[in-house]
Amino acid sequence: MPSFVMAEKCDGCKGQDKTACMYICPSDIMKLDKERMKGYNQEPDQCWECYNCVKICPQQAIEVRAYADIVPMEGKVIPMRGSDSIMWTVKFRNGNVKRFKFPIRTTPEGSIDPYAGKPAADLSKIAQPGFFTHSQPLRKL
Ligand code: SF4
Ligand code: SF4
Repeated sequence: MPSFVMAEKCDGCKGQDKTACMYICPSDIMKLDKERMKGYNQEPDQCWECYNCVKICPQQAIEVRAYADIVPMEGKVIPMRGSDSIMWTVKFRNGNVKRFKFPIRTTPEGSIDPYAGKPAADLSKIAQPGFFTHSQPLRKL
């Protein structure tokens, strides 16, 4: 079930150098057609079906669709990402629609400070081994 961009919804991320779907795709298969300013999945066979692009697309322009030979009458899974939950809409090929809402975090968005309680980095040591988290040098500098 690879991702599929609905061209009528896609705005090409308003012409930014790298679109959201290109940025997030671990398989590096999302591309931007710069003439049409539309994103597309250039290699559906290589899609991990990870849903990253579906969830990050600001226009909700990406769906994950079943292959036509498996689900000839179409089936779709559409996530709608909110700040604290995702609403999944599943459209079955017989026309049934089911929706599931799942929480995705337990703290308010933006409330986590990952460096809280950590000392500030001493940038004068940036070229030295052990600058950040490595207690042993990984390579000779
Ligand atoms: S993230 Fe969505 S709007 Fe942006 S280029 Fe990809 S499909 Fe289009
Ligand atoms: S579902 Fe995952 S692997 Fe497939 S195109 Fe989207 S981000 Fe890339």
